[in-house]
Amino acid sequence: MNRVFSGAQPSGNMHLGNYLGAFRNWVGLQDDYECIYCVVDMHAITVWQDPAELVAQTREAAAAYIASGVDPEKSILFNQSQVAGHAELAWVFNCVARIGWLNRMTQFKDKAGKNREKASAGLYVYPNLMAADILLYLATHVPVGEDQKQHLELTRDVAQKFNHDYDTELFPIVEPIIMGEGARIMSLRDGTKKMSKSDPSEYSRINLNDDADTLAQKIRKAKTDPELLPAKADELEGRPEAQNLIGIYAALSARSRDEICLEYEGKGFGDVKKGLTEVVVDKLAPITEEMARLQKDNAYIDSILRDGAERARAIAEPVMADVRKAVGFLS
Ligand code: ATP
Ligand code: MG
Repeated sequence: MNRVFSGAQPSGNMHLGNYLGAFRNWVGLQDDYECIYCVVDMHAITVWQDPAELVAQTREAAAAYIASGVDPEKSILFNQSQVAGHAELAWVFNCVARIGWLNRMTQFKDKAGKNREKASAGLYVYPNLMAADILLYLATHVPVGEDQKQHLELTRDVAQKFNHDYDTELFPIVEPIIMGEGARIMSLRDGTKKMSKSDPSEYSRINLNDDADTLAQKIRKAKTDPELLPAKADELEGRPEAQNLIGIYAALSARSRDEICLEYEGKGFGDVKKGLTEVVVDKLAPITEEMARLQKDNAYIDSILRDGAERARAIAEPVMADVRKAVGFLS
């Protein structure tokens, strides 16, 4: 059976982009693939995380997965740091990947900002850890948002170079699964920037734990333009904020962008925002409630993650044994 691996960082502020670009898609894959869904806490510390908050955010992320429909019995759900193989394989990949490859990664440039010298070394080699996450389980498919496409290309390059250098066929060449609507949700403040957990502006994103009033306020304040809605979504070209809101509307209501445009043709964004608020509240309320319920029971979440880690380790250990042998590590 083909195997899926995916994950999100417990960097707080789980948002609508994570849900539409990742969690929602993970759920549907559970019947057709063996799925491994990881809370990637080792990735999260590539930027500073307060230790007590990291623990809480790790549980919050696990709650978000489960509330979105990930079934911890069907799928393996765990946090990355509980399985030592991720760090071990990442080191080997640090020695396989080339500096030139990492220099091309746009996420590093975005996250490090202007003061690159002050970014952690971990942030720079982050894509190698991501390659290790996936290849440690010989995963064949990775569902991610469009922002991770470049990292996935690097994962393929690392697998290919490792196989070539060590004359083996150990690692598969993974395929991305990028689902149409929702693959790239943009900031509510700037339609050219993706919605992110790490954006300092609360008004840039819709969090999965926002209550209805907060959601309504954030949507009301979302940046738009004064133009009216055209009859067809194609005609929104050059209006990134408008495209984003219509895209969110379409993704959450399972309708096409054209249908939404037609409904609001000739109207302004004040009207669109009213309809959008209803849809967002309607879709997110059950997830928010379930997350809150789960987060009252830390012992339950911790036991799920521990059990998942054990199942993950059982898959990872024989792969690491093959890696050590291929590389020439005496054991
Ligand atoms: P950070 O800002 O800390 O990097 P993030 O919001 O980018 O956080 P990640 O944990 O890096 O979230 O990503 C988790 C998953 O969510 C990935 O599969 C990623 O592709 C997806 N994702 C993140 N942001 C978006 C977005 N704006 N639209 C669609 N998918 C997204
Ligand atoms: Mg990210």
